Amino acid sequence: MTQHPEERRLNRLAASYNKKARQYGVSGDITAIELARKPLRCMYCGIGLEVGQGTFDHMIPFDKGGTNEDLNIVRSCLTCNRKKFTKSPAEFVEHQTLVVACEVCGTEYQPRWGEYINGRARVCSRVCAGRKRWMKT
Ligand SMILES: [Zn+2]
Ligand SMILES: [Zn+2]
Repeated sequence: MTQHPEERRLNRLAASYNKKARQYGVSGDITAIELARKPLRCMYCGIGLEVGQGTFDHMIPFDKGGTNEDLNIVRSCLTCNRKKFTKSPAEFVEHQTLVVACEVCGTEYQPRWGEYINGRARVCSRVCAGRKRWMKT
């Protein structure tokens, strides 16, 4: 019996989530069927997805107390999945609308979350970072 490619993909994803959950000592076992039942759209930006597109995301990451249970897993487009990293849903929403002004040129831009929470988001680009260093001397 041959498997549908999407069934193979979901089986592989479920296996990798379950393996990671065990590594983190997190409860829950997700199945390919449960993944297949998720609505075909990104839970973060709402974009529609075709079968085989996008990926899945643990809304509350394992390292923030999230589980590997069905309720904590949503379908997500690749863009949102990449942007989210290990932010909590509240942090993710905050970051989506976060804009700060560049210290050098004044341009408003979206800083990287990690730099922002560490208080290091001050310049919009590498060019401005270079200029800032130069202005100091
Ligand atoms: Zn999305
Ligand atoms: Zn700038």
